[in-house]
Amino acid sequence: MQNMVILGATGSIGTSTLSVIAENPDAFNVFALVANTNVSKMVALCRRHQPKVAHMVDANAAQALRAEVADLDIEVTSGESELADLVTRPEVDSVMAAIVGAAGMAPTLAAVKAGKRVLLANKEALVMSGRLFIDAVAKYGATLLPVDSEHNAIYQCLPKDAQQQIGRCNLQAAGISKILLTGSGGPFLHADLNSLPAVTPAQAIKHPNWSMGPKISVDSATMMNKGLEYVEARWLFNAGIDQLQVVIHPQSVIHSMVQYQDGSVLAQLGNPDMRTPIAHCMAYPARIVSGVEPLDFFKVGQLSFCEPDYTRFPCLKLAMAACRAGQEATTVLNAANEVAVDHFLKGAIRFTDIAKVNEFCLEHVLQSPLDSIADILALDYEARVCARKGLALCH
Ligand code: NAD
Ligand code: MG
Repeated sequence: MQNMVILGATGSIGTSTLSVIAENPDAFNVFALVANTNVSKMVALCRRHQPKVAHMVDANAAQALRAEVADLDIEVTSGESELADLVTRPEVDSVMAAIVGAAGMAPTLAAVKAGKRVLLANKEALVMSGRLFIDAVAKYGATLLPVDSEHNAIYQCLPKDAQQQIGRCNLQAAGISKILLTGSGGPFLHADLNSLPAVTPAQAIKHPNWSMGPKISVDSATMMNKGLEYVEARWLFNAGIDQLQVVIHPQSVIHSMVQYQDGSVLAQLGNPDMRTPIAHCMAYPARIVSGVEPLDFFKVGQLSFCEPDYTRFPCLKLAMAACRAGQEATTVLNAANEVAVDHFLKGAIRFTDIAKVNEFCLEHVLQSPLDSIADILALDYEARVCARKGLALCH
């Protein structure tokens, strides 16, 4: 029986994780559920899954939850440092890291440092902390498994030795020439370029293939998501820039591929449903049922591929350039993008302003070297201050 903590339990990945647990009640136990402010959803989850601990980062939300679940035997906790303590408790076997954005970095790193089995959905945590994150995995003997569907697909296509050396594998020595990171191109792959400035948040979050939280949905529409995933792949698979390639594949049936030196290309396919990579990570190296429909090739019909158009997707270009420049640039870009997407979702800036704010920050934030978590948080803060200045230029 694996005792799990679910960070971001009320979100899209959290919901899918709980659904896979419900399919396999003899193998997994919900030890703790963690969310930010959504009390009503957390109450429902507590009643259904009966965790030992329910944690709301927000203190008022925790107080409200405590009153609502007083009849259940659940410890309700709150606060950021208490969250780091929660994931390191000895009863905890594995942690689903599915808080959105930079807020997920501290608890995810706490789980890594406690040597837990960490199922990583929160790509922003890795993009921000890069080398420090990967070094901590090795230093503290944590098990890291990639939940992001592309990285999970790549992981599944790697030789076992390379899987066991996540973050430190030698792709060249493993006979691999390239990692082919696929992306659907999102809802605006074929939209008239002149229509993009007027895109509304509702249009941007309507992804053609995947159902996801609002931030990652906007990132998919700008293709910043693929940019963040490019950086994520760089760290997870110890890949050089010349070993990474983005391929547009609108159907999202192939979830990414690995090209070998002998000409073979291995791919992982499936319906676009996050329960598959989540179940893979939960049970690895075993396989369990996920509740996902089997892929029906007669319904799939056609698979197509094309090169990304960087005029349409400037955020992807910025992320690839930042990845080339180094970890300071990707930390700045991640923070700037979080601020820009938040303001776009609130209707304060246009869709096309997101790339402008991101570029402004990459040009203007002084990128000091990152030797500690404190350095990362300081640079993240500077980038957010700069992004707010950049927003002012968008009106
Ligand atoms: P979501 O918006 O649906 O859920 C976010 C969760 O994070 C919620 O439970 C919320 O309570 C919690 N949260 C937000 N701010 C918090 C804070 N300050 N402290 C503590 N908790 C906080 O997001 P999602 O779509 O489930 O995505 C979660 C993460 O997984 C993101 O990093 C995303 O990039 C990644 N991811 C998601 C998908 C997907 O299909 N949804 C796929 C791949 C990767
Ligand atoms: Mg993905």
